[in-house]
Amino acid sequence: MASVRDIVRRFLDRPGSVDLSPYQRIVTEAAALEAEVREREELRAGEVGTAEFCAVVREAARRSLGERPFDVQLVGTLAMLDGHVAQMATGEGKTLAGALAAAGFALQGKQVHAVSVNDYLARRDAEWMRPLYETLGLTVGWISETSTPEERREAYRKDVTYAAVSELGFDVLRDRLVTDPADLIVPAPQVALVDEADSVLVDEARVPLVLAGAADPGTAVPEMAALVRRLSRGYHYKVDQEGRAVFLTTKGTDTVEKALGVDLYQDPGVVTGLNLALHAHALLTRDVDYIVRDGRVHLINQSRGRVALLQRWPDGLQAAVEAKEKLPASETGEILDSITIQGLLRRYPQICGMTGTALAVGEQLREFYDLRVAVVPPNKPCVRVDEPDRIFATAERKLEALLEEIGDQHATGRPILIGTLDVAESERLDEALRARGLSPVVLNAKNDAEEAAVIAGAGALGAITVSTQMAGRGTDIRLGGHASADGSESAVAELGGLYVIGTGRHDSSRLDDQLRGRAGRQGDPGGSVFFVSGEDELLAAYAPGEPMPDADADGLVRDKRGDLLVGHAQRVAEGVNLEIHRNTWRYTRLMEEQRGHVLELRDRVLHGDAATQALKDALPERYNELAEAVGDETVERACRQIVLFHLDRCWTEHLGFLSDLREGIHLRSLGRLNPLDEFNKEAVPAYRALLDEVEQRSKETFETVDVTGDLADQGLKRPTATWTYLVQDNPFGSDWDRVLQRVAGVLKRRRKK
Ligand code: ADP
Ligand code: MG
Repeated sequence: MASVRDIVRRFLDRPGSVDLSPYQRIVTEAAALEAEVREREELRAGEVGTAEFCAVVREAARRSLGERPFDVQLVGTLAMLDGHVAQMATGEGKTLAGALAAAGFALQGKQVHAVSVNDYLARRDAEWMRPLYETLGLTVGWISETSTPEERREAYRKDVTYAAVSELGFDVLRDRLVTDPADLIVPAPQVALVDEADSVLVDEARVPLVLAGAADPGTAVPEMAALVRRLSRGYHYKVDQEGRAVFLTTKGTDTVEKALGVDLYQDPGVVTGLNLALHAHALLTRDVDYIVRDGRVHLINQSRGRVALLQRWPDGLQAAVEAKEKLPASETGEILDSITIQGLLRRYPQICGMTGTALAVGEQLREFYDLRVAVVPPNKPCVRVDEPDRIFATAERKLEALLEEIGDQHATGRPILIGTLDVAESERLDEALRARGLSPVVLNAKNDAEEAAVIAGAGALGAITVSTQMAGRGTDIRLGGHASADGSESAVAELGGLYVIGTGRHDSSRLDDQLRGRAGRQGDPGGSVFFVSGEDELLAAYAPGEPMPDADADGLVRDKRGDLLVGHAQRVAEGVNLEIHRNTWRYTRLMEEQRGHVLELRDRVLHGDAATQALKDALPERYNELAEAVGDETVERACRQIVLFHLDRCWTEHLGFLSDLREGIHLRSLGRLNPLDEFNKEAVPAYRALLDEVEQRSKETFETVDVTGDLADQGLKRPTATWTYLVQDNPFGSDWDRVLQRVAGVLKRRRKK
């Protein structure tokens, strides 16, 4: 509930951005110190956030990187040090501005986690900025998916640690199972400095990071996959408007029952399997939602258009997709713990960040993280020419016009970057261009290893680069390409610079802006345009039934209402996403609070003698008897292991309970009760019961267990293998509740045993 103070503050702060003038004053003062600081042999930053600080870090960057930070970069740095999100356009040098801010925090003795959107950028930025940090007497490290636990521990010991948000989250989750303090990896969170802040803090906020433990081997479901492959869409089954749900028609039900020889209403187990197979078959598309590589299914991260490593769908669905692709089923397990990206970042007492597009989500940044946006102007004015959308009635006309435009632009030698909405589209376009004798380079989830080289070349004379949203973030495209062969940079500039073409508007204007931002960096010339058709998914999903005005003879829709319709569809999409985000958070918030409590408790058990004290108080005779027999130390260790085991076990079960509850609440809300109230009404006492349960089970175990024996053999068996994954938002709608729905299935089965 927004307090009056919040409302007033919101009102006063309109249009919602931070006043830059104090920062600008400091930066002006810093200029006066520049000459003097340059003479200094040793660089000491002085008080963080002052003119002295700015002058010194500027000099440090100049000496170590050969780049003298522009005034606007220092303004961005100061804004971040103040705990804001700095909005700075693409190519303005956020990596450096962010590193200066990170250095500022580190000089105040705070450990900084520089959060990237992927491993490639984490490593690139850490290595790139290393000389700067070292000049300031600071240490820096990075983590990637392949880092070992020891490498991770080492990286977290540095003043500044660069890591992809998923790696951070997985480390936090894995620490969650540690039974010996020496095995912990992640230190207590202090400062998170988030690159591409809108993407991480808003778009991916509700994505759950999941820790699962191996139990059963995977169950293959090839029969179901084979069965649904024979069904036809529209006749046997239907897909809802948004492509998020699929259901059998009466005809389909008959066919399935005959084929399987069962009555579907009598056999819920079969129905679950069938639904999963149908989902995999009808709602998930190869090369859009996932790709198959090395005989395995790899998810594609929708908002980044790249392969999401070590990520998988909740078990049943993963197995169904594997069966659909005729692959063997990978192992299954149960979800031991989970945290959303929002929950992960909210652990940090201090957050700040940077991105090219923050203002459009200013409201959400404030609502969910209490962050404000500082809009930093560009160093040189942007001269990119953003053309109005070219709108066509049909997808076919759009494609024709698109190919023609690419051909025309390419004929001049101008480099072109084409942003597609998904992998399949990038491949279709690649084919069509090749058929016309062109040789585009395709950058998509299938060849992410080559991304750096491809990106560096995208600004070269005559380059045609086709890319999913992957190239939309973090990459630096220089005119003229690589180390820019002499003269080619100015040749490209004369042609108008990089030309960015979007093959369709995204479901958020920020993604459009990110794509456009690939061109026109640092005052370079450049251009951008989007091709849109009345048959685009955005319009079908968010403005269904609203007719596109008639096209002119050349196929182009020039009627203003066409533009309005596209803008309307995009705003509806943004609204829907915000609502889903809010709603998910309403439910996950309580859970994450409870999770926080459990972890505090766990920490006390892990690091202290809380377990021993509790069991000694509850069962003094048993304690003394054991202590006499085997010594205090052994008993204490056993106490700790026992309580940790039950705490972790009960939490996993509680998670399952919450998901069941969340699922059932929808039904109750039909009876006009407020579903969220209902949810809270049960979730709170269930959590209290959890704590009692832990105590009860721990006492029972303590009474009977042989403390010198192997506890694992006495019912305290921990998962032998664990793995982590990130559940992507996809057309299937695997946001939090859907994940939990699936978890619920697994846990329900388990609890019955
Ligand atoms: P952003 O993240 O804002 O899109 P980057 O951090 O990737 O931008 O930097 C874009 C380019 O600008 C890089 O090639 C970088 O070396 C260059 N750059 C950044 N700051 C400066 C500076 N002060 N002087 C010269 N070049 C700079
Ligand atoms: Mg960047």
